[in-house]
Amino acid sequence: MARSRIVMKFGGTSVADVERIKSVARRVKREVDAGHEVAVVVSAMSGVTNQLVAWTSEIARLHDAREYDVVVATGEQVTTGLTALALQELGISARSWLGWQIPIHTDDAHGKARIERIDTEELERRFAQGQVAVVAGFQGLGPDNRVTTLGRGGSDTSAVALAAALKADRCDIFTDVDGVYTTDPRIVAKARKLDKIAYEEMLEFASQGAKVLQIRSVEMAMKHRVRLQVLSSFEDKPGTLVVDEDEIVEQEVVTGVAYSRDEAKVTLMRVPDRPGVAASIFGPLADANINVDMIVQNTSESGQFTDLTFTVTKADLERTKKVLEDRRVALGYHALDADSNVVKVSVIGLGMRSHAGVAQRMFKALAEKGINIQVISTSEIKVSVLVAEEYTELAVRALHTAYGLDAA
Ligand code: ADP
Ligand code: ASP
Ligand code: MG
Repeated sequence: MARSRIVMKFGGTSVADVERIKSVARRVKREVDAGHEVAVVVSAMSGVTNQLVAWTSEIARLHDAREYDVVVATGEQVTTGLTALALQELGISARSWLGWQIPIHTDDAHGKARIERIDTEELERRFAQGQVAVVAGFQGLGPDNRVTTLGRGGSDTSAVALAAALKADRCDIFTDVDGVYTTDPRIVAKARKLDKIAYEEMLEFASQGAKVLQIRSVEMAMKHRVRLQVLSSFEDKPGTLVVDEDEIVEQEVVTGVAYSRDEAKVTLMRVPDRPGVAASIFGPLADANINVDMIVQNTSESGQFTDLTFTVTKADLERTKKVLEDRRVALGYHALDADSNVVKVSVIGLGMRSHAGVAQRMFKALAEKGINIQVISTSEIKVSVLVAEEYTELAVRALHTAYGLDAA
């Protein structure tokens, strides 16, 4: 049999304790025994990164992102070393690699850095000697020679980037569900597992909050044509393949429903309604590396003032407020209102390109449950609405049923 090169990524729950790390090592051993070259990417033990993030915010709400990275990158150092040890105990030659040791070069956007280049020479040399590389996910080395992290869920991206750089035959993402579902199986019991999903749809799922894969990992897999699979680290069965659109045989109008609790709504009241005002608001936010998602502008009757509503991630809310409050006089708005009790719910499907009435069905299903829509945004293959957070489960279930996605 031909020798394959495989990248295997294990998420937080898959390395949550010593027993699970041993079981990861046994899973990796099977591939090694089959004669494959293996690079393993691990996340921090589940819950650890949350704890590290909480500590940094406890000390400083608006913290120095470079020091944040030094703290939150530590979770992966522990699991990388432990996994290498567990493999050695099984008689496999293995060593751990931290981001800076490879190095995995990133840009300087601390807290959400992008991978720019991975030096693979040394890893290649050791593959040739039969050694397994255990690589810390989520971290890299910035141009300032400091540790960077890739944003929450970033180990997926570490794995795909490594698979692209190593020209791996496969990148397997092992997690606590056995594949990608029509919606989060933790909140909809009737969610169905998909055998395949198109890159474009997976990208939209990830962008709209289905955290099973980090968005950049999908972008990168799509660009470099990495053969990506999501599967269970606990059960031995096929997962979901992320593939080209033309490999999908049966195309539904809506493939799935995603939600994101990670949103916060900001409203600037009574902004002067004149040319250039949007640029003067969103320019400084972009300069501060803050991504704005949904935007609505209401023109007032007089035409002199307008209310401007937009969403940012909850993590960026404090900084957003600061940037805008610092410019209050120049921008001339009356008041700033921030609301974190919102959720963005989206329906996604390539089939929407050729079907009308998709949005209408969504609005009707939500209206029937008495759920008020605060903001709407659409793209070619998705419709998103912002609603009060308390309706998350109700809205997702209602939409899953309305588009005929419920399992029999
Ligand atoms: P890991 O720690 O392995 O990276 P994550 O928690 O990041 O795992 O991602 C897996 C989780 O993604 C699942 O436990 C599930 O609750 C959630 N999820 C959200 N949407 C979906 C979906 N459409 N299909 C599968 N899982 C989903
Ligand atoms: N440990 C990091 C996080 O929790 C990275 C990851 O798990 O992918 O976000
Ligand atoms: Mg994850």
